[in-house]
Amino acid sequence: MINESRLKQIFEDLVKIDSPSGHEKDVCVWIKNYLENLGIRTKEDNAAEILNTESNNLIGYFDGNKNLPAIMLCAHMDTVEPGRGIEPIFENGVFKSRGDTILGADDKSAIAAILEVMNVIIENNLSSCPIDLVFTVYEEGGLKGANALDTSLLRAGFGYIPDSTDPEGIVESSPSCSRIVFEITGKSAHAGSEPEKGVNAVIAAAKALSKIESGRIDDETTCNIGLIRGGKATNIVPDKVVIEAEARSHDPKKLEKVIEDMKSVFEKTIMEEKEKSSDRNYPCLEIKIEDDFKYVFLSRDEPVFKLAQQAGKNLGFELKAKKVGGGSDANIFFHKGIKAAVIGTGMKKIHTVDEYVELKDMVECASLLLEIINIYSSEKIG
Ligand SMILES: [Zn+2]
Repeated sequence: MINESRLKQIFEDLVKIDSPSGHEKDVCVWIKNYLENLGIRTKEDNAAEILNTESNNLIGYFDGNKNLPAIMLCAHMDTVEPGRGIEPIFENGVFKSRGDTILGADDKSAIAAILEVMNVIIENNLSSCPIDLVFTVYEEGGLKGANALDTSLLRAGFGYIPDSTDPEGIVESSPSCSRIVFEITGKSAHAGSEPEKGVNAVIAAAKALSKIESGRIDDETTCNIGLIRGGKATNIVPDKVVIEAEARSHDPKKLEKVIEDMKSVFEKTIMEEKEKSSDRNYPCLEIKIEDDFKYVFLSRDEPVFKLAQQAGKNLGFELKAKKVGGGSDANIFFHKGIKAAVIGTGMKKIHTVDEYVELKDMVECASLLLEIINIYSSEKIG
């Protein structure tokens, strides 16, 4: 039922519109017009004001012809850089970029699939539940759009977010992620004439870092020291080092432990350094911990899960449950009370200039969404 050439055209049109995070205005207007031409009501929230960016989140309300609770279909409108002036090349069924930009299949392959599904439902007058179509801004680099979204504007309590790779996969679990910033303050001094008056923050940082456990901690927990900044010149004893780290786990208790372990290594090391120091007030330490995003866990008994699996079965494949290491808008929705399952669109090598997607995978994603709505609307499950 999915019209492959129409889906292809929608995707091409979408990726040609620049929409790096914070600059989603043009693509938002395009999608809004598209929905309104289909007869779907739209509304924008006030995310632009909250985030001090260009565009709001966009919501489309399709009422359908079945009196059922609404389903949400959601995709993000922004892309990463280099994502301006994208020229899609289509060869042998595969979309790629010219090679000097990303393709933008993340997440425009999802927007295209969702819009094509709406085309099919409307032109065939299929029986359908109400559908909330949610297009978010600023997903990349912080899930800010979903975070700013006023979910009281939505009718749906569950839904689907095509924002992953495998079109035959469904994400059942995604981790919590925290960012930890360690700021070590020493005392500067001339490195040649009076180094004994200085307290070296780089050395203190190095001692602490050498004792940190990082990388894969266990099968569901990771930790990374990602960034280190400090020092001014070789002839100055450095008085400041900032270290930024992150930790992730599917188990909130394990995440807490990893963070506690890191904190105590730093605290203990800095304490030891202080005892040896020429000035007992230095080095000193400040630690900031911020939640980046919180976990998602969907039980396989949830209607959102069973519905998708039944749809996969009807289409002739077994939908694979996945545990992923990254976050998406689903992490935000989950903690706002909307259970959204992330599915795949076929996009590969995302966030690189080698990004590509096969049209047949986008068709499969759209077919899965359509079948989900079909099953749900016929009230055979859920
Ligand atoms: Zn994405």
